[in-house]
Amino acid sequence: MKTTDLSRRTFLKSGVLAVAGAMAAPLLSGCGNGRKHEVDEEGNFKKEDPQPDFMKPPAPIKDSQLASTETADVIIVGAGMSGLCAAISAAEEGGKVIVLEKTNTVNFRGYDYAAVNSRVQQQVGNHLDPVDVTREIMRFGAYKPNQKVVMQWVKHSGHVNDWLLDMALAKGCKVQHIWTHDEMVAEGATLPTRPSMTFVLEPTQEAIEKAPKGMIGGKPVIAMAYTLLSTAQDKGVDLRFKLPAVQLVREDNNKGRVTAVIAQDKEGKYHKFVGQKGIILCAGDYGHDKDMLHYYIPSADTVKINLYPSKANTGDGHKMGLWVGAAIDEGPHAPMYFDFGMVNAPGLADSVMRQPWLSLNNYGERFANEDVPYPFIANGVRQEPDYSKWNIWDSKWPQEAPAMHQTACKSLKSVYHDPKRLQKLIADGVVKSADTLQDLARQMNLPYDKVKSEIERYNEMARKGFDDDFYKRKECLTTIEKPPFYAAHITMALLVTLGGLKINENMQVLDKEKHVIPGLYAAGNNSGSFYANDYCMTIMGNSHGRAYTFGYLAGKHIMKN
Ligand SMILES: Cc1cc2nc3c(=O)[nH]c(=O)nc-3n(C[C@H](O)[C@H](O)[C@H](O)COP(=O)(O)OP(=O)(O)OC[C@H]3O[C@@H](n4cnc5c(N)ncnc54)[C@H](O)[C@@H]3O)c2cc1C
Repeated sequence: MKTTDLSRRTFLKSGVLAVAGAMAAPLLSGCGNGRKHEVDEEGNFKKEDPQPDFMKPPAPIKDSQLASTETADVIIVGAGMSGLCAAISAAEEGGKVIVLEKTNTVNFRGYDYAAVNSRVQQQVGNHLDPVDVTREIMRFGAYKPNQKVVMQWVKHSGHVNDWLLDMALAKGCKVQHIWTHDEMVAEGATLPTRPSMTFVLEPTQEAIEKAPKGMIGGKPVIAMAYTLLSTAQDKGVDLRFKLPAVQLVREDNNKGRVTAVIAQDKEGKYHKFVGQKGIILCAGDYGHDKDMLHYYIPSADTVKINLYPSKANTGDGHKMGLWVGAAIDEGPHAPMYFDFGMVNAPGLADSVMRQPWLSLNNYGERFANEDVPYPFIANGVRQEPDYSKWNIWDSKWPQEAPAMHQTACKSLKSVYHDPKRLQKLIADGVVKSADTLQDLARQMNLPYDKVKSEIERYNEMARKGFDDDFYKRKECLTTIEKPPFYAAHITMALLVTLGGLKINENMQVLDKEKHVIPGLYAAGNNSGSFYANDYCMTIMGNSHGRAYTFGYLAGKHIMKN
């Protein structure tokens, strides 16, 4: 992961350089992401090829180029959350299943799993209104999502979550009911959230020893990865690692059935896998394909950190689908942005740093209500200079932070808060600490007069208990008066992208005329028809929720048809 230290000075300097560059190169014009449009002698833009390269189908791999051909009932591309759920689900129906995986392991991260009225939710007294949840998802997507698809999640995520939990229990995982209704919903929060998270898993020692390395999310993610990998193996799913899928085979000159997928091994040899019942694309998102990201989510140009660990998420499943005529969600696609990045250090910002403290931009100005879910914080910060902000708090934080009642990935009870690491970040100067505001302003490289006046105004509103400037909830208005003072320079990160191939309510991929492409399914971030604009964070964990529910449903449907 690459972090970039962009102080205000460097920011201004880069602006100056951009102007100088534009003057020096009159035949090139900037267009975000460092791209250039060619301009003719009269200064008009030359017409760009309307079809980006990633959409152009490569030459079909011929039978004569194949090193092997194998047949199964179902071929699944990708061994992440949706792929393994699809594999186990199809295997439960007696299917012979082969999973092709690009990396050398299964891939998991994070651990919030949303559902609507799962068994665990009922146990802790959470009842979600399906009507409310449906309307919330549709409103977030400005009614661009396919409501039939959304309703499949609302209607099925509860029982599929029970299915997932039963597998984890059978593998010896323990369930912690730590996030009860009270802990998941902050009364009076700027935006009401739904208590949609379901459980936190404690893995067995065996799971800890056998889990793949490098996953973000600590023990709970280890528990889920181990549960799904070992259950798939128990059910006879045939997992092929380091074998990326590269092309689909669609009969009748791309008008008939998708019958097979071709993968390429590390020696460059091609292997054909025929899926008698079909192929399920579960190859995840395209966050690490720069061209796709810029094309479908131009705002990602403002985000400097990409937190998807393996870099294998290059939209291969999207591309393979497009090449055989699949329709894709209208752009711009929804990103999952997160206020997780530290400007001056790798790794995730600690939960303490990300509470809704006073935030100042790189000119020392407060600019918004800080008490909103992380995608909105990210959007707000992306409008500010340098796409970063300073969060400022004081030594009263151990009493003040819990009262703010932040949930999901900001909870101080979660793995995203590590007191020892926080101390080290302070000692290393990543989190600034000072006994005077003057010294703090100096360390932040912000004008002291501005910082002082913003803090004085903020303290005044905190004492009064009302935020005249941005209407922040009063529990989140805390004075900054008791040294030591702290400041963290936070920037935004991209976790995953959420737009994908259009599907119907059975997870069958659709063409541009909304006809089913026979034999082809998609689930998880490879699939679309669910999000638009932004990630609906008011229903926490619904990205996993979609992945496991639709993987499960695709596995069942493909075997019954
Ligand atoms: C740091 C982080 C934390 C997160 N935390 C949460 C959370 O707490 N809650 C939540 O709901 N969401 C969270 N998310 C998002 C969530 O992890 C994903 O949206 C979800 O897991 C997607 O599942 P998937 O099966 O679609 O894709 P993935 O899990 O990305 O799996 C796709 C798989 O396909 C493989 N693949 C790719 N190309 C090919 C190919 N050509 N051939 C074969 N295999 C291929 C990949 O290697 C990968 O194994 C988080 C994301 C990040 C980055």
